[in-house]
Amino acid sequence: MASAGNSVIDRATVERIVRQVALEYLGRGSNGKAPELVVQASSRHMHVCREDMDVLFGPGTELTVQKPLFQEGFYAANETVTIVGPRSRIISNLRILGPMRKESQVELAFTDAIMLGFSDLPIRISGDIKGTPGAVIVGPKGVVELKQGVIRAAIHVHMNPKEAAYFGVKQGDMMKLRVGGASGLTFNKVHVRIDAGSKLNVHMDTDEANACGLHLTKDVEIFK
Ligand SMILES: [Zn+2]
Repeated sequence: MASAGNSVIDRATVERIVRQVALEYLGRGSNGKAPELVVQASSRHMHVCREDMDVLFGPGTELTVQKPLFQEGFYAANETVTIVGPRSRIISNLRILGPMRKESQVELAFTDAIMLGFSDLPIRISGDIKGTPGAVIVGPKGVVELKQGVIRAAIHVHMNPKEAAYFGVKQGDMMKLRVGGASGLTFNKVHVRIDAGSKLNVHMDTDEANACGLHLTKDVEIFK
């Protein structure tokens, strides 16, 4: 502490301290470094509700963990199902991602959708399934007819509030994702999804990943 006779701090020092505190609060740290960005392709998958789990795998059964996902608490399950599309074409080994959800949902890449006979699958944020097509789902113990819930998931970025403050974005905003490399491209409509437990992470489907050559490069950047 400064002594009583020497307690006046000059304006520049005050500004420096305020800036330091503000930057640390916003998660930038003293060097203003961007948080590390992980971009991943999500293969087609299903989220299952308790009621459908009971029918597909048997009453009271639980999902079992095959592999934890990058986002804390989420995992690829050992359990898989078969989806039957509108023209009786099927995809088997459709993996379930855990934990269970309030409503069942199937996320397909557009190529998967066309193969199954969905000619115009809507692009939706996960969980927003009102008015979307349904499908028949076959499990080892039973069959469920989903009335709705088949979507192409919109490309999105998960982040926590500190990371959102760093980028200056809020829930529902759109960002851009630039992917470098041999067939690189920039996605202009990346939905921002903020959650306290999230780590900075873009999810795209396999069509998008193949189009931009995601596997060819580590040169990725997200911006407003
Ligand atoms: Zn995601």
